[in-house]
Amino acid sequence: MQSESFDVLIVGAGLSGIGAAYHLQAQCPDKRYAILEAREASGGTWDLFRYPGVRSDSDMYTLGYSFRPWRQAKAIADGAAILDYIRDTAREYGIEHQIRYQHRVVGAAWSSAESQWTVEVECGPQRERRTLRCNFLYLCSGYYRYAAGYTPDFAGVEQFRGRLVHPQQWTPDVDYAGKRVVVIGSGATAVTLVPEMAKRAAHVTMLQRSPTYILSLPDQDAVANTLRTLLPARLAYALTRWKNVLFGMAFFQLCRRAPGLVRKLLRARVQRALGPGYDVDTHFNPHYKPWDQRLCLVPNGDLFAAIRAGRAEVVTDHIERFTEHGIRLRSGRELDADVVVTATGLQLEVLGGIAFAVDGQPVDFAKTLSYKGMMCSGVPNLAFAIGYTNASWTLKCDLSSEFVCRLLEHMDRHGYRQCVPLRRDPSIAEEPLIDFSSGYVQRAIERFPKQGSRAPWKLHQNYALDVLTLRHGRLDDGVLQFSAPAAAATAAS
Ligand SMILES: Cc1cc2nc3c(=O)[nH]c(=O)nc-3n(C[C@H](O)[C@H](O)[C@H](O)COP(=O)(O)OP(=O)(O)OC[C@H]3O[C@@H](n4cnc5c(N)ncnc54)[C@H](O)[C@@H]3O)c2cc1C
Repeated sequence: MQSESFDVLIVGAGLSGIGAAYHLQAQCPDKRYAILEAREASGGTWDLFRYPGVRSDSDMYTLGYSFRPWRQAKAIADGAAILDYIRDTAREYGIEHQIRYQHRVVGAAWSSAESQWTVEVECGPQRERRTLRCNFLYLCSGYYRYAAGYTPDFAGVEQFRGRLVHPQQWTPDVDYAGKRVVVIGSGATAVTLVPEMAKRAAHVTMLQRSPTYILSLPDQDAVANTLRTLLPARLAYALTRWKNVLFGMAFFQLCRRAPGLVRKLLRARVQRALGPGYDVDTHFNPHYKPWDQRLCLVPNGDLFAAIRAGRAEVVTDHIERFTEHGIRLRSGRELDADVVVTATGLQLEVLGGIAFAVDGQPVDFAKTLSYKGMMCSGVPNLAFAIGYTNASWTLKCDLSSEFVCRLLEHMDRHGYRQCVPLRRDPSIAEEPLIDFSSGYVQRAIERFPKQGSRAPWKLHQNYALDVLTLRHGRLDDGVLQFSAPAAAATAAS
């Protein structure tokens, strides 16, 4: 049977896949495309995670799309509101009809002779194998494994008689009302869960091995909400977006240039929130510098309020083992628990976990260099949408999608069927794609493409610079090689 053929296949119907489809429809309306989504629903992260209080930890004026204003009063939004925003976008622009659910991409093989990807898909509950073909493949498949989160091997865990749950596998039957809860972890998920669970639990302990930088900000942006009453929605949104981008960039630069000063400021704010007697240095003063790992945001100081009210506590210690009734710590202290939540992180996944091959040769992404943080050296007609680590995800993904559309237009204009970034300069040194010291990054970063020491291989994690290079930069830059092989041109005609 002839396999169905597309100009572009987008993998993933999450925040970035829906955004990619919008850009494609708007900039390249003649392209035939589909979105392949492994799950039965759209929304990705914002549909998968159902733990209490799930929310963004960046503002929606930058996590929202450039083309669709965020109109709600809360800037730090609940997961359900973000999911509605993504799905409303898909409905409003007719993208919903292009999504093929229960289509898990498992393999993709590029043929230079045909200028085509042959995409291997498992469809439906029976995982029937089907192949689809496309000229360009755009991966919007996120960055972590959906099947399961990361849980370290805890000694004695099988003896624990209470409920053990990972936030990625939260189900509505997890009952914690009136119970003693221990949340293991110190990242964004833990600091979200603790104040929310403390509203109904008997008591919540946040158990961390080491502290994280935590910054409290109001969940509403007063400037944004005022601008919205004075100006048309799109203009108000654009102004707030740039305000927040510039503030975020300035703060990141300050962290890089004066880490000691930022440490002092953050520490002083936490001390003020928790009172002079609180041991901030043990629980909220990390060993690493600000932004060497992701900074955690708490809206309206909710975590600190729960601690002050005695409904929650932070314990900084190491787990020796689980017992029947809870957790024994290295210090000898025992934490009794009815429910233990392992907010111990994600397992990173390289480009949708798909097995790639180019002209019969398997692709090892660890041996490729990432071009502008969105293509891979030596891999033709493939792009991926991966967001910033120091700013909202969508800022970068919107720009990557614009770049993909420019690339497709450029190829059409010149009759090209192929484009591939080629690494020709031997003096480019390799660096890890992400320079975070966090465990979840360190556990997996070796399997990811590398970045190079100079542009266009260098990931600057800088929105303003990316606006210049991705939105306005030359496509014919001597690194991207374009071609129109004769066989492919005949096949296409
Ligand atoms: C709890 C949580 C909170 C977060 N908060 C923020 C925040 O405040 N700010 C921020 O910038 N970032 C945040 N992030 C990062 C967040 O994941 C991104 O902001 C964004 O939602 C990612 O969107 P995405 O569409 O790229 O990926 P995802 O949301 O992961 O969606 C990817 C989609 O691709 C599908 N898929 C994957 N592989 C395949 C395949 N092989 N075949 C077919 N389909 C496939 C998946 O099923 C999924 O639907 C958060 C992450 C988590 C886990």
